[in-house]
Amino acid sequence: MEKNLKKQITDSNYWNKKLIDNTRKTLENYDNDTRKESRLDAKLCKCCYYIKSWIGTCDIKTSQCDNCGCDVVNSSGSLLYKLCERCGIELGLCSFCSGDMN
Ligand SMILES: [Zn+2]
Ligand SMILES: [Zn+2]
Repeated sequence: MEKNLKKQITDSNYWNKKLIDNTRKTLENYDNDTRKESRLDAKLCKCCYYIKSWIGTCDIKTSQCDNCGCDVVNSSGSLLYKLCERCGIELGLCSFCSGDMN
């Protein structure tokens, strides 16, 4: 077998294992709601907070709140928040996906 291919296999196995470990951890956090306080602070449901963990990693954009039409500042790159913080609290919904908080 080519030396390069051998290395590639080792690398792939390594990164795949890492990915699985990370995914498992992510799901554990999701199941246990390990950071509930900061999740509720961020007005996000469990799925958005733990699983869609890319939130907050890209540049800032604004969108309109689905409920009151005010400007919402987004820190999630191409995906936009559906509700402003106030409406999220008022309706008891996730401000990102407007799904249930749990
Ligand atoms: Zn609103
Ligand atoms: Zn959500």
